[in-house]
Amino acid sequence: MQDFSAKDWADRAASLTIEGRAFIDGAYINALSGNTRPTLNPATGEVLVAVASCGPEDADRAIASAKAVFEAGTWANQAPSERKKVLVRWAELVEAHAEELALLECLDVGKPISDTLNVDVPAAARTLRWSGEAIDKVYDQVAPTPHDTLALVTRLPLGVVAAIVPWNFPFSTTAWKIAPAIATGNSVILKPASNTPLTAIKLAGLAKQAGLPDGVLQVLPGPGGSLGSHLAKHMDVEGLTFTGSTPVGKMLMEYSGQSNLKRTYLELGGKSPNIVFADANLDKAAAMAATAVFYNGGQTCTAGTRLLVQASIHDAFVAKVIEHAKSWLPGNPLDPATSMGPMVDEAQYNTVAEYVRIGCDEGATLAYGGKRVKVTDGGFYHEPTIFTGANNQMRIAQEEIFGPVMTVIPFETEAEAIAIANDSIFGLAGAVWSKDINVAHRVAKAVRVGTMGINNYFGGDMTVPFGGFKQSGNGRDKSMHAFDDYTELKTTWIEFD
Ligand code: NAD
Repeated sequence: MQDFSAKDWADRAASLTIEGRAFIDGAYINALSGNTRPTLNPATGEVLVAVASCGPEDADRAIASAKAVFEAGTWANQAPSERKKVLVRWAELVEAHAEELALLECLDVGKPISDTLNVDVPAAARTLRWSGEAIDKVYDQVAPTPHDTLALVTRLPLGVVAAIVPWNFPFSTTAWKIAPAIATGNSVILKPASNTPLTAIKLAGLAKQAGLPDGVLQVLPGPGGSLGSHLAKHMDVEGLTFTGSTPVGKMLMEYSGQSNLKRTYLELGGKSPNIVFADANLDKAAAMAATAVFYNGGQTCTAGTRLLVQASIHDAFVAKVIEHAKSWLPGNPLDPATSMGPMVDEAQYNTVAEYVRIGCDEGATLAYGGKRVKVTDGGFYHEPTIFTGANNQMRIAQEEIFGPVMTVIPFETEAEAIAIANDSIFGLAGAVWSKDINVAHRVAKAVRVGTMGINNYFGGDMTVPFGGFKQSGNGRDKSMHAFDDYTELKTTWIEFD
């Protein structure tokens, strides 16, 4: 499969049967209203399939089924070792369908096939397997109480959990949510982003095949404003896990307060600082500075969009980064040689183009890129773009653009670098590059973000938690810490006669 050409993938795409129905109570079905919404291929603008557009009435039905199966204990009361078997089988099925899933994600999101095949799909399988393998190794606690008492501290699932996910990493973020939620015994209702629902829909059928009882995972495609908010306000939904933008995350917190105070965990936006000191390995740092922004077309919450460069190396370093930017020119996502695809849709392209205009108006220098390319292909392709001569007060340094746009900001001292890095409403990720262990650790500790790299960017795997400080969110995906988001602690206090 690694030898497939763009034509091979296109041929496979042409013969692919795509499921567009919702998955409710163990079956693929249409929305009760019969409404559908076309999902488009961002590379061509062509319709892939009409997808069920679910509304509150479908959500009510799914929630009733999720609640019933939770209360019956069909899944929640299974031994952890039994739940593990299902999750591991599910991971194996994802691996067995890896090419189909990678192709679906490529067609639906516009991500390069080499990424969906080598990154997104393996990451999702690993998440399912890791969460399954971990769940029968989690012990509860006995508290250090007086000798005539016994106090148990146990973890219980929340009940019905709604998971609402974005379009930029649909398959892997879906797995980050549903694997720990289901492993801990919850019943999950997943709402994918309206424009990228296809791999989530496919994943639900594989869950059933793996032995997950009906009602434990249901997938409802539909609009955020009506369906998503209905889930977030529902009195029978006890947990809400969300990845998406900060403004929507704030609304979800309000919905929680207006309804039943459902546990609400948010993974939100970012404007991450990538800090390069003069003594760093500059070749490696320059290559990764480009990757940190242009990977996935910059449609990455952790993108290192603020490149902070020590003034003494600024010009030489920026020249190196521009050389690397040239290897991120967008191409056909079905071509295994493509590193960057189109923007997900026209609206996202327009946002990026608008920020390029804003950067120029603010007085920053457009040092590279800035234009639409491949116009005749039908998709919205944007060049990798680099602004220099910027300062941290500019909108291109403060606001999440979510496109392939880097803002370079010079600094003189370590203290100044830390101050600039922390001057942001966000706190998701960042990195520092220096050969001086003291500088690297001091800066890594001082920057207020959930994940910080030292001499790397995008580091991390399933063993470590992922999430944000400040307005980048509050929950943690991945690792054993993810189980905390989907469980309540219960104390049982026993006194001996
Ligand atoms: P978005 O907030 O517009 O949408 C995310 C999801 O929320 C979608 O499923 C959408 O339909 C739904 N939604 C929208 N309005 C809603 C409402 N009122 N009530 C309930 N649900 C609603 O985000 P997006 O544009 O799809 O994704 C991009 C954003 O996601 C960026 O800000 C990015 O930084 C963030 N993101 C964060 C992480 C992370 O882990 N921190 C990862 C990926 C993406």
